[in-house]
Amino acid sequence: MTKPIFCIPKTPDKPLYRWLLGFFMIAIIALGWKYPLLGFAVPVAMITGITGGLFRGRYVCGNICPRGSFYDTFFSYFGGSRPIPPIYKSLVFRWGIMVLLMGFMTWRIAANPSDWRHWGMVFWSICLITTAMGVTLGMIYRTRTWCAFCPVGTLAGVIGERKYRLRISQKCRQCGICEQACPMELSIARYKNEGETPNRDCIKCSSCMKKCPTGALSWPGG
Ligand code: SF4
Ligand code: SF4
Repeated sequence: MTKPIFCIPKTPDKPLYRWLLGFFMIAIIALGWKYPLLGFAVPVAMITGITGGLFRGRYVCGNICPRGSFYDTFFSYFGGSRPIPPIYKSLVFRWGIMVLLMGFMTWRIAANPSDWRHWGMVFWSICLITTAMGVTLGMIYRTRTWCAFCPVGTLAGVIGERKYRLRISQKCRQCGICEQACPMELSIARYKNEGETPNRDCIKCSSCMKKCPTGALSWPGG
């Protein structure tokens, strides 16, 4: 019997709302050139991600971001499995990308600042460019390679570095299964004695928690 190419059960842990957010992302890319108003979803997502940092660090990245949802659902069938190159995680590269993208956006908007359709097109073009980058890198390396240096994620991580940290208990056997499941390739087990993980790039996706055989991981208040 031939195997189906596309079947939802590969990511059964992803709730329907994540698939809908992923579909929303695809719709913006596909239709934004014709309906520039859709481009305003980009600043909304940016503001949501950064504001979320005040309360739960990069929680929005792993649970609400339409592009992150696209990576975790539709794109999970095509994403690669090679390690994310360390340079993408370096501060110089990350802040460089942020300055580049913000500069490009400001320069493009300044060309016609009184036309909201122009603003929408600029946001859409940023979305298209960065998604193309993310998809290409995600196929070569890991699915969430883009998230290693996403400017919004970087800001949210800095703002919420001490918020909603993943907790690790003495039940940990340091088997490393959780780290293999982490889409951001973060260290977890080494913080067993500290009781919590200080990773500012944790996107609070709970993938590690779902895989842990001893139930050693939890969220604050959980
Ligand atoms: S999967 Fe659980 S037991 Fe294994 S290293 Fe991670 S936290 Fe520890
Ligand atoms: S540490 Fe756990 S919750 Fe954080 S990004 Fe990695 S898998 Fe997700």
